[in-house]
Amino acid sequence: MIASARIAAAPVRPGCRPAGGPNGDNMDQREFARYEVVDGVAVITLDNPPVNALAPGMREGLMAGVERAAADAAVTAIVVMGAGAHFVAGADVRQFGKVRPVSTRASAAALEACAKPVTAAIDGYALGGGLEHALACHYRIATARARLGVPEIKLGLIPGGGGTQRLPRLVGPELALDLILSGRQLTAAQGLALGLVDTVVDADGYEALRAQAIAYAGQVAAVRPLPRVGERTDRIAAATSDPAFPASLRKAAPAKSLKLLAGRHALACVEAAATATLDEGIALEQALFNELENSDESRALRYAFSAEREAAKLPGAPVDARPDPVRSAAVIGAGTMGSGIAIAFADSGVPVRVLESSAEALERGLQRIRDTYATRVKRGSLSQPAMDECLGRIRGVMQYEDIADCDAVIEAVFERVDIKQEVFARLDQVMKPGALLLTNSSAIDIDVMAAATGRPGDVAGAHFFAPANVMKLCEVVRGPRTSMDTLMRTMKMGRDMGKTCAVAGSCDGFVANRSRTPMMTELMLMLEEGARPEQIDRVMVAFGYPMGPFAVNDISGLDVSYEGRKRRAAANPDYRKLHVPDRLVDMGRKGQKTGAGWYRYERGDRTPHVDPAVEDIIGTVARELGITQRSFSDEEILQRQLFASVNEACRILEEGKAYRGSDVDAMWLHGFGFPRHRGGLMFWADSVGAATIYRQVSQWHEAYGPRWKPSALLAKVAAEGGQLRELRGQAEPA
Ligand code: NAD
Repeated sequence: MIASARIAAAPVRPGCRPAGGPNGDNMDQREFARYEVVDGVAVITLDNPPVNALAPGMREGLMAGVERAAADAAVTAIVVMGAGAHFVAGADVRQFGKVRPVSTRASAAALEACAKPVTAAIDGYALGGGLEHALACHYRIATARARLGVPEIKLGLIPGGGGTQRLPRLVGPELALDLILSGRQLTAAQGLALGLVDTVVDADGYEALRAQAIAYAGQVAAVRPLPRVGERTDRIAAATSDPAFPASLRKAAPAKSLKLLAGRHALACVEAAATATLDEGIALEQALFNELENSDESRALRYAFSAEREAAKLPGAPVDARPDPVRSAAVIGAGTMGSGIAIAFADSGVPVRVLESSAEALERGLQRIRDTYATRVKRGSLSQPAMDECLGRIRGVMQYEDIADCDAVIEAVFERVDIKQEVFARLDQVMKPGALLLTNSSAIDIDVMAAATGRPGDVAGAHFFAPANVMKLCEVVRGPRTSMDTLMRTMKMGRDMGKTCAVAGSCDGFVANRSRTPMMTELMLMLEEGARPEQIDRVMVAFGYPMGPFAVNDISGLDVSYEGRKRRAAANPDYRKLHVPDRLVDMGRKGQKTGAGWYRYERGDRTPHVDPAVEDIIGTVARELGITQRSFSDEEILQRQLFASVNEACRILEEGKAYRGSDVDAMWLHGFGFPRHRGGLMFWADSVGAATIYRQVSQWHEAYGPRWKPSALLAKVAAEGGQLRELRGQAEPA
């Protein structure tokens, strides 16, 4: 009986007690690996809350524990597990690019080489280095809630602790490659079916799993030979003897993955798992991992990961704040955005009511929602019962009284000040006290809406990007009177919807669109000067965007920015009109929804076709403006767009409308599909260099006039050095 077992807790060896925390910095002396012996089974518990991320000291502790158990004649078997609710959720991302005294490769090898059977007992996450350690154990047992995966690819890396060699030996090369390239997680049941785990146990919590693991380890204590994954050949034998294997493996890899260095290196390693010895494979993995760790691609991807985390931090928020979640929501307007936002709520399990101005508009919106779900079911990304469950969360209503009890309401009506003010005045009358009053406006000052209510502190922007159920950005816009509580709750709402949230101050276009507008302006002006939509789209796809800006604009609708331009032109006599898109909208070419925009579309098909009619319009506008058209190099096209936006992002920071340069990057990554392996606008700008950008911006200022006036902050960084991505807003965003 475990309950009455003698627990021989022993003092931990020096290796188990590193002086320093996960970063080797200012943490107190602490144990990362506890060691105890129960009924002849040594239990090594890895302990680094909250998810047991691999930190310097943990691998040392693990190895010391294994060594100690191996030397103890009273120990017949070993269990490795995580304290708390997880095994090991992977490496601490901050460690990459730094020297690690002991690698996962070494500690995993020590586990596999141990002469006594080692069982990994997995609860919660066993990811990355966590799973690699488990793979090096002789047995793996898991609870039903275990999640298994190797997500390194998301950081531009491959598993570097023997995972690329052991995984193929355990589940076969094709599946191993799929797991490595996708970084997806498997459930315990899936892991069991694939042979990744030996058994799934019914254990709730650390104590219960520990008891089951000790019992399991006792049962296998005498089994010899030890089932070492590194020595297995049964799952790779067919590939080893098949000369066509390398070619068929390459064919199985998605072309998208092989565009990235990490994808190509993963392929090489998995191929080696079946065609070379374990030692050779491990050596190759080590060399390629080291190369990736120092690659621009991985640096950019690691940066993107930390920029997103940083964006979630709200300066000035109380550290112990636990903002209330949104348990019920309402959306006003079931157009393009409203229906997407409703889907995003329903997908995240939040019941949502959709309010429209007419029964016809409501039915149109609900139909759009049903169609979106039906498409997912048709594509196989959603099951019919899951669709029914989601649709069950969405209810159409016509009366404001029917949404009064919702925790949050998001307005997504036409982008017109008068209509928005009317809606907010009505919301103020009906919504329960404390409800979040949010607007999805693309550009209108939040305070205009706040002023229509008697509770301006509760009003903020929750700016989603089209399609709102797909794009991950929620730009949380802080008006001058938005309360901290409203900001925190809106950020939490966005996070709970699976979005990446970042804060913007209230100014025309906020941060994301405002920083992107100059790029869009230059795109349009380059058209007048002789570039073609399809050339610009091609350049941006080559840069790494999944689609070019004109193809995207055809999806979001050319009319969305049309109203904003009209407003800006009315407010500013010097405003440079964009004649080409204005004329397209005037002709009814609003994008895919009208069958034509920048491109032409066949009925029921979303493939863009180059349309000579667009070239005619561009030619006509150029003639009317007296512009002589010329050709553009691809480099000029790229720089002219992105430098304009970098300059504007610096102005935004100068005005204190964003907290951090890296927030701009989080927004571009998730709002506009900026290529992740380029880090983000500011990260990319740093790779070019602030001084180079400043010089070019200054030249274009002379050539094209005031819109290219260099930002003072850009000038400062160009002169003094430093990184644009590390810039801080010069004031609180509001
Ligand atoms: P849309 O024209 O597709 O939909 C607007 C909907 O609001 C229509 O269904 C209309 O019937 C409804 N509506 C109008 N007045 C109403 C009222 N008084 N009460 C209830 N419903 C009313 O517009 P959209 O593209 O979804 O844009 C909505 C908002 O989202 C705008 O503020 C826009 O600037 C913003 N936005 C749009 C995009 C985009 O790409 N489309 C992206 C981000 C933000």
